[in-house]
Amino acid sequence: MGLTEIDLHKELKRYFGFSQFKGLQEEVITSIVHGRDTFVVMPTGGGKSLCYQLPALISDGTAIVVSPLIALMKNQVDAIRSISSEYGVAHVLNSSLNKTEVKRVKDDIRNGITKLLYVAPESLTKEDYVDFLRGQTISFLAVDEAHCISEWGHDFRPEYRNLRHILKRIGDNIPVIGLTATATPKVQEDILKNLGITNANTFKASFNRPNLYYEVRPKTKNIDADIIRFVKQNTGKSGIIYCLSRKKVEELAQTLQVNGIKAVPYHAGLDAKTRSKHQDMFLMEDIDVVVATIAFGMGIDKPDVRFVIHHDIPKSIESYYQETGRAGRDGGEGHCLAFYAYKDIEKLEKFMSGKPVAEQEIGHALLQEVVAYAETSVSRRKFILHYFGEEFDENTGEGANMDDNVQNPKKQHEAKEDLEL
Ligand code: ADP
Ligand code: MG
Repeated sequence: MGLTEIDLHKELKRYFGFSQFKGLQEEVITSIVHGRDTFVVMPTGGGKSLCYQLPALISDGTAIVVSPLIALMKNQVDAIRSISSEYGVAHVLNSSLNKTEVKRVKDDIRNGITKLLYVAPESLTKEDYVDFLRGQTISFLAVDEAHCISEWGHDFRPEYRNLRHILKRIGDNIPVIGLTATATPKVQEDILKNLGITNANTFKASFNRPNLYYEVRPKTKNIDADIIRFVKQNTGKSGIIYCLSRKKVEELAQTLQVNGIKAVPYHAGLDAKTRSKHQDMFLMEDIDVVVATIAFGMGIDKPDVRFVIHHDIPKSIESYYQETGRAGRDGGEGHCLAFYAYKDIEKLEKFMSGKPVAEQEIGHALLQEVVAYAETSVSRRKFILHYFGEEFDENTGEGANMDDNVQNPKKQHEAKEDLEL
């Protein structure tokens, strides 16, 4: 293919209907189209999928896309099918397919119709699939949610560790693309090493969310009243309140309701119908507040969430960033308020005590960063960005004054004294 002749903007418009690339997309796509190993770090919502979908659509052969969640793969396949006249342009290969379906997938790949083949990492270990793929033209391997390869990530999947080995069996010199929203230097190092792409072209977008305001308050026995007051000061605005346990979710949702706040609970213990009803109520703004465990949020795209409150401190800065990231997607106001008591850290440590020692050590190290964040008296934005390996100037950086420590340096002292009670 004559690379120089490809007009990426035209292809973008043709396939996706967009007139402009978002952020670093064009640079990433150019790297992939040139067959380079490529590493992409972009926050959630940054548009990572398109970075491999577009090159796949305009390349010869089939791109293998590894992704950890079957539901996400299905969504993507449906979306790609809807923009192409060929149903077979994208397929999912997983254990739920029957023989006829597998044959269809293989035929479409063999005939060059399939541009994107989504596979769960555990399916890719199947001998039959590996043998089949070895004989085919593979344009590249895209590893989405690549942080799953690292124990330092928030979603470690041991099967991701085999990818490099499997890829070697499928073919030589197949370019590898790793994509993740996990920006910590440790995780990135693990990804590159485990995928064997230490020479990759790396593209990293900034993780700064200048419109988000970060605040930590001491968690006392009056926390429910504190939360009620906050929500009432923000009446009519949409917000999410995260709690650690299902029980707390139920209790707090009820407390809020009793106090005249339009709130519903959301956690994995509710049946699917209730969950989707509560989610819709939030999206349709029939209610203002969702009180939830971390089960809530994946794939929720409500642009005008105005606050994210953590009733309980999360287990890592990473999780905190992801969860607060659901606020202010539209660029408008987004208040991120975490309640913190050291006692909660001890509780989280205790939860881990049954786990293998290596996991406990990682969990402990991640928690220590959370403690440091909660107790810091410097710019919280600087802290978060530094955690992600990013420089931030607390005087001139975008959003520099958007946190409690910067706006009210004295408050931190009071907070610390409270904590020592
Ligand atoms: P990520 O995987 O990085 O979280 P997604 O790939 O899910 O992000 O994309 C997030 C959203 O951005 C999607 O709704 C997608 O359609 C949209 N998007 C991606 N690229 C563009 C673009 N060039 N112009 C406009 N919207 C885009
Ligand atoms: Mg994605």
